[in-house]
Amino acid sequence: MSTTISKAANNAQISYNVSFPEAQAHYADIEMHITGLQQNTLELKMPVWTPGSYLIREFAKNIESFSAEANGKAIASPKINKNTWQIVTKGVSAVTVKYRVYAFELSVRTSFVDASHAFLSTTGIFVYPANMLHSPAIIHIAPYKNWDKVSTSLEMVNNDPFTRHSPNFDILFDSPIEVGNQDVFSFDASGVHYEICMYGGGNYDKEKLKADLHKIVEQEVAVFGENPNKHYVFIVHNRQRNGGGLEHLSSTVLGASRDSYANDKGYQGFLSLVAHEHFHLWNVKRLRPIVLGPFDYDNENYTTNLWIAEGFTEYYQGIIVRRTQLFPVENYFEAIESEFNTLENLPGREVQTVAESSFDAWIKAYRPNENSNNTTISYYNKGAIIGMMLDLEIINNSKGKYKLDDAMKYMYNQYYKTLKRGYTDAEFKAAFEKFAGKKLDDFYAKYINGLTPVDYNKYLGYAGYKIVDELAGKNDAALGVATTTTAGKKVIVTAVQRGTAAYIDGINVNDELTAIDGTPVTDAAAIISGKKPGDKITVTVTRDGQAIDLPVTLLKNTRVKYNIVSVDNPTEQQLAVRKKWLSL
Ligand SMILES: [Zn+2]
Repeated sequence: MSTTISKAANNAQISYNVSFPEAQAHYADIEMHITGLQQNTLELKMPVWTPGSYLIREFAKNIESFSAEANGKAIASPKINKNTWQIVTKGVSAVTVKYRVYAFELSVRTSFVDASHAFLSTTGIFVYPANMLHSPAIIHIAPYKNWDKVSTSLEMVNNDPFTRHSPNFDILFDSPIEVGNQDVFSFDASGVHYEICMYGGGNYDKEKLKADLHKIVEQEVAVFGENPNKHYVFIVHNRQRNGGGLEHLSSTVLGASRDSYANDKGYQGFLSLVAHEHFHLWNVKRLRPIVLGPFDYDNENYTTNLWIAEGFTEYYQGIIVRRTQLFPVENYFEAIESEFNTLENLPGREVQTVAESSFDAWIKAYRPNENSNNTTISYYNKGAIIGMMLDLEIINNSKGKYKLDDAMKYMYNQYYKTLKRGYTDAEFKAAFEKFAGKKLDDFYAKYINGLTPVDYNKYLGYAGYKIVDELAGKNDAALGVATTTTAGKKVIVTAVQRGTAAYIDGINVNDELTAIDGTPVTDAAAIISGKKPGDKITVTVTRDGQAIDLPVTLLKNTRVKYNIVSVDNPTEQQLAVRKKWLSL
């Protein structure tokens, strides 16, 4: 950064007007005013990704009708690369820039506008002046027709809900904005004012939600010892079927199914999502891998530590809901058994380490293809299992003095609060070792940077549990394909699992399964279920318009389904670890 530019940055005043004259056609219209300029050219940029979602999304693709003017006259604003406009500001101190954003991508990390509401995922809405990320900005929102509310963690200016202030662009880009007629209710917990903003309706019980979210907040504050916010906003998008969430500094955006609140499973799922995204306000938003802040909004930001940032958050979503005592411990076991079974039935566990999975999130996790299960794992999934293993290791080896919470709190205090920077891989490892009271070189070599199968019984054994494979005694055959049935009743192969009969004998993705031993295929699994490993069959497929007979030798179904059970006669030490781990 040159001194001239930072001087200009200090003097510049930035404001935006956001309006929705064509909300029904999914447009947000942006007018940006910059005054106090002292430079010859000004580069305006749009981020290419949104923090928390590790994919280059090219938000500039949604921008149209970009123009600039000064003193009432149009000035040149050519694009100089995919996400940068260069404005000639020689001799002028104030410019106005106008552009439109087409917003029709339904997700928690992209913007969406229609006649019923606007969800502004700010990285895809606001261009920023290059080298001026530290500048504050004012955002005026002009709502469409009868919209009457703005929900965001950005603070109001002069108590006007439609005028908000952002201290800098990192905060603006971490503060999504919901505009519309959302149902807003609030509660206070740990000294923080919490708003719940529901778009889309739903069968939720406000009083129950407030009480249960209060419990989750208190449990999470107890892990880190403080709540760094003053004001926090849950923006919830209720749709017929919806899910997912994205964390922000002082807010989160959640997807929910509008009829999910009244059944136990759906409600527990929603609370787990709340616990997950809210836990992120510490883990990743403040306690963060060193490269995840300050962000580079132009490029990928690579880290091998998403197994902590995301995986541990997934581990904690379960353990925090467990600590609220809202559901029985069996529900918690179901969630972690599902983590075990996901990993153990994925051939990619023998190919990709959890550190690699994190690093390559940009090109693999967020860009899956038909072979992904054979070659990749999820850092959420294996990271959650590693969280459990380290929690049990720490509890067991410290004789119940510490648990994973202590390492998390220590890291938060040390790196976020004291050193005011992110952590390195080695620094987090040192913290685990500090509380586990032992070196973890071997653990890292095996499970973080290696492909050693997880020794579930060792870690669960600390708490007097073990795993039992419900399918162990079975000797059924499997073909090893996933299929979809088209509207025309064609059975099409969508994935071929590594190591299975289909993989070895050459069934391909996109093959239409037409017959097995001459029997027309409507349900391949039903035909295979009558056969045994070693049986030889002929699978007729249509590939590129041609029929091919493939001789296939069926193999044993290697699928596992683990359940957690207590060992016989657990020792006192095991029971003590169990109690500490599960908050029994
Ligand atoms: Zn997450």
